[in-house]
Amino acid sequence: MSRAQRVRALARERDAVIIAHYYQRSEVKEVADFIGDSLAMANYAATTQAGTLVVAGVRFMAETAALLNPAKTVLLPEPEAGCSLASNCEADRFAAFLQQYPHHTVVTYINSSVEVKAMSHVLCTSANAEQVVSSLPENTPIVFAPDRHLGRWLEQRTGRHMVLWDAVCEVHADFSLAEIDRLKGAYPSARVLAHPECEAPLLELADVVGSTSRLLAEVVDHPDETYIVATEEGILKEMRQQAPFAKLIPAPQNTPNACACGECPYMKLTTLESLEQALIHERETIRIPTELQQQALRPLRRMLDLSR
Ligand code: SF4
Repeated sequence: MSRAQRVRALARERDAVIIAHYYQRSEVKEVADFIGDSLAMANYAATTQAGTLVVAGVRFMAETAALLNPAKTVLLPEPEAGCSLASNCEADRFAAFLQQYPHHTVVTYINSSVEVKAMSHVLCTSANAEQVVSSLPENTPIVFAPDRHLGRWLEQRTGRHMVLWDAVCEVHADFSLAEIDRLKGAYPSARVLAHPECEAPLLELADVVGSTSRLLAEVVDHPDETYIVATEEGILKEMRQQAPFAKLIPAPQNTPNACACGECPYMKLTTLESLEQALIHERETIRIPTELQQQALRPLRRMLDLSR
């Protein structure tokens, strides 16, 4: 039996589902029961009947699944799988920051710790952030955290001024504008697709700005075009599968890694081996204290209700 087959057999035995983010390794996505972006993963976690949820993603995604399923077992196979946005918005610093804005509505990106979520009024993902911010009554003073690039883009899209926390995604903020300009010269008809976590000058030149699922839909809807893709490279697999005739060029980064494209080091930690070990040893189990769970669930539920 291959390791992939063993993982599937273990998942069946343990009444477990494997929920994977688009940015995961291909071999991990191949054994998953569900693949999606953060919003789709949260929606799936909210409705699955399985007794155990194995989250092939990063910590905040497993915490989101646990918030929605306090009575179930939620496993994060790689305890070190974090996120630069969540780790640069520490709960104690955020609490002190919010003291300056006691009357503001706090809109928090789902890429945040459970403690920061618990201090928020409503959450959002990149797929529904515009809808969430626009749903607030006009003149509502807003704090937005933690991604300042997404926050700036939202200000432009919604016309709302917001107080922004200052953190960035280390992957999306590192795409090279100069290299993308050079590629535009070499492929003049190429359309630039960018995630809103990218820097403002890149978002200004992009043809389409949107969440991972929005960028995938764009390629599927126009499958014969050439694209320069400025988001994590994992999504290219789904783009190639669903639009095999599209020409896809990963946007280069300022500090290229071995593949010279945008790979999230945290997302790539999860392997078939770590999934197998997680299922055998039931680890790492995500446990959230009841009071914190209830506080953080409120803004999460508000977001899910808004995006129905
Ligand atoms: S790609 Fe960026 S935002 Fe997404 S998990 Fe990695 S560091 Fe966090």
